[in-house]
Amino acid sequence: MPFCARKCPYCDFYSLAGAEDMFDEYAKALIRDIQSTGNKEISVDSIYFGGGTPTLMPAKLLCDISEAVKRSFNTAEDTEITVESNPFTADKSYYKELTKAGFNRISFGVQSCVDSELKSLGRLHSFEQAQTSILEAYDAGFENISCDLMMGIIGQSVDSLMFSIDKLCSLPITHISAYMLKIEKDTPYDCDEIKNSIADDDTSAEMYLAAVDMLKENGFEQYEISNFCKGRFRSRHNMKYWQLAPYYGFGPSAHSFIGGKRYYYKRDIQGYINAPEKLLEDGECNALEEYTMLSLRLTDGISVQKYKELGGDVARFETLAEKLCRHGMAKYDGKMLSLTAQGFLVSNSIIAELI
Ligand code: SF4
Repeated sequence: MPFCARKCPYCDFYSLAGAEDMFDEYAKALIRDIQSTGNKEISVDSIYFGGGTPTLMPAKLLCDISEAVKRSFNTAEDTEITVESNPFTADKSYYKELTKAGFNRISFGVQSCVDSELKSLGRLHSFEQAQTSILEAYDAGFENISCDLMMGIIGQSVDSLMFSIDKLCSLPITHISAYMLKIEKDTPYDCDEIKNSIADDDTSAEMYLAAVDMLKENGFEQYEISNFCKGRFRSRHNMKYWQLAPYYGFGPSAHSFIGGKRYYYKRDIQGYINAPEKLLEDGECNALEEYTMLSLRLTDGISVQKYKELGGDVARFETLAEKLCRHGMAKYDGKMLSLTAQGFLVSNSIIAELI
């Protein structure tokens, strides 16, 4: 859903501000594309409306699109249907319309509970407004509520991050995605002034480890490098990416993974409306590389057996596993190797040693 009320200066997702007049036409194009791709032999148990800010669109359009997916694929009774939202873009009656149509998970871009930090990120909402939206969504029947939290914001300290986590944990939420602020190429944040003001590596590491500890104290289990949940509320949608399950993406800049191949649509909404064209991504997928990279993001970890089956060097794996365990960076039970929070901090170099 490539629409936003205003572009945030750090964001490189494909989305347009001030394109409300395209909502209807875009929803029609999506429904056409979903219907022409649909196949009742394909089972679906997760539908995800990402953005952009899907909740800028009328609820009726989101419900129509969701119905089109259900009609076109073999959709399970208990399908997880998620909608991404930004605080204060919708109200309780809007959320009710969604829950009535089967939406059962909502993910809010809260980012911080400190207003000066929200301002520095160019966000349009205050924490109080975020809080109101979360409570309204909960009252409207969303029991599975996720919040995005950002670390490394200009002006953020470990203490203010702890304050944000404390505030979020007092709300009726089930899931938190905690990401480090990353400077994306060609965004307004991609300049020396910003690069020199954001948290350095040591502070970022301190923030990450403190966040992992505090979330654990508050009952959020870490199941992925940046994702934490209460009880059974792992994101089914996200797990599919990390477990290399197939998925269909629709809309400009959406990606798909079908039959071991990756496809994408161009970042061009008008082109999509005129004639959606799924393009094959360049380059062969290397199964060992993908499996290693994705499974090491998860606290379930990587299976030595699967690594071996995909052509990995088991002797190298065992030597590295022993070294990582000795330094408190991983756990290994002879079958699964999983990184600890310390290990996640250097996961890129660990992955590089394994592939
Ligand atoms: S609201 Fe989200 S998708 Fe839209 S510009 Fe901001 S960060 Fe990007």
